Amino acid sequence: MSIRLDNIAKHFGATQALEPINLDIQEGELVGLLGPSGSGKTTLLRIIAGLETADHSPTPGRILFGERDVTHVHVRDRRIGFVFQHYALFRHMSVYDNVAFGLTVMPRAKRPSAQDIRARVYRLLEMVKLEAFANRYPAQLSGGQQQRVSLARALAVEPDVLLLDEPFGALDAKVRQELRRWLRHLHEEFNFTSVFVTHDQEEALELSDRVVVMSNGRIEQIDTPETLYRAPQNRFVFEFLGDVNYLEGKVHNGTLTCGDAHLAVDLPDGDAELLLRPHEIRLAEQPTPESHLPVTITAISPVGAEVRVELEADWLAEPWLATVRHADFNRLALRRGQRLYAHPRHWRRFPEATENAEVQTHLA
Ligand code: ADP
Ligand code: MG
Repeated sequence: MSIRLDNIAKHFGATQALEPINLDIQEGELVGLLGPSGSGKTTLLRIIAGLETADHSPTPGRILFGERDVTHVHVRDRRIGFVFQHYALFRHMSVYDNVAFGLTVMPRAKRPSAQDIRARVYRLLEMVKLEAFANRYPAQLSGGQQQRVSLARALAVEPDVLLLDEPFGALDAKVRQELRRWLRHLHEEFNFTSVFVTHDQEEALELSDRVVVMSNGRIEQIDTPETLYRAPQNRFVFEFLGDVNYLEGKVHNGTLTCGDAHLAVDLPDGDAELLLRPHEIRLAEQPTPESHLPVTITAISPVGAEVRVELEADWLAEPWLATVRHADFNRLALRRGQRLYAHPRHWRRFPEATENAEVQTHLA
């Protein structure tokens, strides 16, 4: 089921939780709403669900599910499945009864037969690999298992739309990873449309077909994870999607200077601030005529696919973080206290005056 939001805004008293928003979600899409706490993600999700109404004035908004205008349709008639952060399972009901619940309370005319309910519940429990736990109670399951029951329960009524609010937020990293795979898998198998809320950029980028980046009740950018990461439309998006290193200085005759550091740049004279991702910094034993950025290694973390190296220098207001391939790490024999030179491979600038309009990218 496709979802269209047309001019949806929301005030809580004097607080504007959402500026007027337009958003088109395609049938079968898995869309992530990503933003810091308080940016309006939950409010938007609750409006899609019908748990909250959008502002009526100055101009009323509209919500369409496919061709159907659901703006004034009650939550119970929107054919929606929910999963929330706190596995709101019924504690006094077994896993089986939790998953069956939505089906057993259907009006008699629509309700599947007892036999069909049983078949459907077991199929779902099988999909989330919990068929052996049908008779357990929520308290006898781990957090990750409870969230899988929540997923199965939400899907039992065959919703057109699945809405998830920080569904994995309360779980530890490894279980979260596993649950993301479940969600992806179920999404592909059942082919419903999903909207999930997260403040975790990695989760959003990994799971979503498209990500809606929000801040202060506004949509900052809607794009595929790849485009979002490669071509952030503004500074907020760039900063929110990953670690950033800053280089601030004065440009004169094509050279940016900051203390005893300098870098050749293709910029007009004046103040400039360059932003770099950790993987955009190369470390070397020597400066070059174009790049003279002396740094000292203050910390090294060799965990993961790349080595994370913290760099400090007198000319830096805040330490830099560089990620280095293990091979380069070994070749350079990096160690704490070592003095090296940083060489930007690539950097960006978000000029103040055009903050939301222009991104400059340079290769160095
Ligand atoms: P997020 O889910 O991105 O953290 P929310 O949608 O929960 O953000 O909140 C957006 C803004 O709306 C916040 O400033 C929040 O304090 C406010 N807000 C949310 N719900 C209510 C409410 N029921 N009453 C008053 N203010 C609210
Ligand atoms: Mg929220």
